[in-house]
Amino acid sequence: MNTIQINHVPQKSEMTKLHKLWRRYKYFTPVIVLPAIMFISFYYLGYWSFFAFVFVYGFIPTMEFIFTGTAENFTAEEEAVERQDIYYDLVIYSMVPLQYIILGLYLWTITTKQLQWYELVGITTAMGLACGALGINVAHELGHRTKKYEQFMSKLLLMSTLYMHFFIEHNRGHHKNVSTPLDPATSRLNETFLYFLA
Ligand SMILES: [Zn+2]
Repeated sequence: MNTIQINHVPQKSEMTKLHKLWRRYKYFTPVIVLPAIMFISFYYLGYWSFFAFVFVYGFIPTMEFIFTGTAENFTAEEEAVERQDIYYDLVIYSMVPLQYIILGLYLWTITTKQLQWYELVGITTAMGLACGALGINVAHELGHRTKKYEQFMSKLLLMSTLYMHFFIEHNRGHHKNVSTPLDPATSRLNETFLYFLA
């Protein structure tokens, strides 16, 4: 019997050492940036209460517009090593206490301070951002994992957003029926975005 032997030749990484470090540790930036922008919004109030909103919807898109990014990536071998690293999981897990700290700070601010109406609007947009980014997006990631404690963390995040039905509906409804009329989270054929949203 003839057998074909494939010699695996490791790819050579194109990235510099510095770029590799950035490629890895850029995922840590939300752990610093998120509390910082929330703290600025909740603590300084006034027009600063809109800081988180302006940062996320103004500053970040502008940076993405200016810096086009790079297509360079880890090689398959490097990626396999990175995948085994618990560091990436810890970054995701840290978002659970972070979301609850932000929620506590928000509730404390609205119950103990005399706020102008626009300050309330400002810090509520900040809290809404945290709920969207952490309470739903990170929960989505953890909700797709198979380990029970990761699914529990997903539910904790969804609870902070009053959105726990997502855990069942998204995994057993949306992903099962996506792009069919059975999925309410899929737009109808040729439906405009605004019509779908309404
Ligand atoms: Zn999904």
